[in-house]
Amino acid sequence: MDKNSNKSQDLILFGPPGAGKGTQSEMLCERLGLFHLSTGDILREAIAKGTETGKLARQYTDSGKLVPDEVVMKIVEEKIGEVGGNGGVLFDGFPRTLPQAGSLDEVQERGGRQIKLVISILVNDNEIISRLEGRRMCRHCNRIYHIAANPPAKEGICDVCGGELFQRNDDRREVIQERLKTYYAQTQPVLDHYRKKNLLKEVDGAKDPQEVSRQILAIIA
Ligand code: AMP
Repeated sequence: MDKNSNKSQDLILFGPPGAGKGTQSEMLCERLGLFHLSTGDILREAIAKGTETGKLARQYTDSGKLVPDEVVMKIVEEKIGEVGGNGGVLFDGFPRTLPQAGSLDEVQERGGRQIKLVISILVNDNEIISRLEGRRMCRHCNRIYHIAANPPAKEGICDVCGGELFQRNDDRREVIQERLKTYYAQTQPVLDHYRKKNLLKEVDGAKDPQEVSRQILAIIA
């Protein structure tokens, strides 16, 4: 018998900021019943609540830098601990550095889990900048909109829960440039880690969200 057959099968959605990881994660988790683990969402929640982790994280997120690996690993381990039984996890925006990828390997080994696939969403820089500048997020349910490409029915209000839409601090142009630099310097090398393990698949993220989702589901199938 395959010694991995009893392990929980987790996925990683990988890509630069604005690639559509959040939108795709929502669709995939709904469709496949996966647990959505977005380190960005967890950090934003901590910042909104003003916790110690939040105060520390804010110094990095507001300037487009990465939060230190130890802080991120602690919140990821806590969250994975909440996923019971054989439920699969979809990691969104994590791992973002080589040390995080190495630590995730260890955490998974200890917890009897494994990464089944890493899906990398490809989008060019110009598209990223226009997507991020127009992006709005629901303060309540984190749903994502775009002022031109995917506006809510009523300006500033979430279609799903009626929450207030806001522009993330880090979606301002100066911070976007910094986030892209951080992505190419620290996060892109993580792709090689998974390429070597033969887990990496790529999809064209320039297509509309439904089409990207179809590509991803075809790969998973
Ligand atoms: P995101 O919503 O995934 O774009 O994350 C927003 C910000 O949170 C990033 O620009 C980082 O400052 C921080 N962040 C999110 N995930 C990570 C991570 N895995 N490692 C370090 N920092 C992170």
